[in-house]
Amino acid sequence: MNQAKPCIKCLLSEMKDADLMEVIRNGIEGIRPQDRSSEKDYQERLNLCRSCDNLISGTCLSCGCYVEIRAAIKTGRCPLKKW
Ligand code: SF4
Repeated sequence: MNQAKPCIKCLLSEMKDADLMEVIRNGIEGIRPQDRSSEKDYQERLNLCRSCDNLISGTCLSCGCYVEIRAAIKTGRCPLKKW
């Protein structure tokens, strides 16, 4: 049987999993608009996560959070101070 392996260095949005996409969507929608990062900051943060060894399947190993939700919070911080 040929089972698809999870993408280790991917964000959740890149894993094409409908349930995970909903987790992200619901997480971001739960953030008040005035508390959300700008799109520019959001993408810059996620690019830093993509190149970080602590990103495993959309989760930050340093803090245990889904980075796509944490990065969407204006006051969110990287535990290693990369953003
Ligand atoms: S939040 Fe920071 S430590 Fe965690 S994956 Fe992103 S860049 Fe790496």
